[in-house]
Amino acid sequence: MKTCRKELTFRTQTRRAYLNITPQVNAALAESGVREGLCLVNAMNITASVFINDNESGLHRDFERWLEKLAPEKPHSQYDHNGYEDNADAHLKRSVMGREVVVAVTNGKLDFGTWEQIFYGEFDGMRDKRVLVKIIGE
Ligand code: ZN
Repeated sequence: MKTCRKELTFRTQTRRAYLNITPQVNAALAESGVREGLCLVNAMNITASVFINDNESGLHRDFERWLEKLAPEKPHSQYDHNGYEDNADAHLKRSVMGREVVVAVTNGKLDFGTWEQIFYGEFDGMRDKRVLVKIIGE
């Protein structure tokens, strides 16, 4: 069995952002040489998410508005977590959007459903954050 572990680092220019990281995951898969197996992609930070959805900018704005309704960033004082920090909303948004995805690897490719792409969701950005890519198979 082959295994491959790779860390990707992202630093967004804004507090919240949605990045299509499918090209970086495809690159890791090509590097791994795995033809049949599984590819795990997870955020290594508790205020960021990895999720699969459509690469459509209107949908990303809809995610942003929906998450801000569920867990508005401000006022910071509304959250018990915000004693020394101001990122309670980011922890909650991450919980809703999820930590990781697992994609089947078939014939050397990510075996996606129609329109599926992998996204990094940043909810407390403007600093380096890591994403783990782990690929196992043969
Ligand atoms: Zn925090």
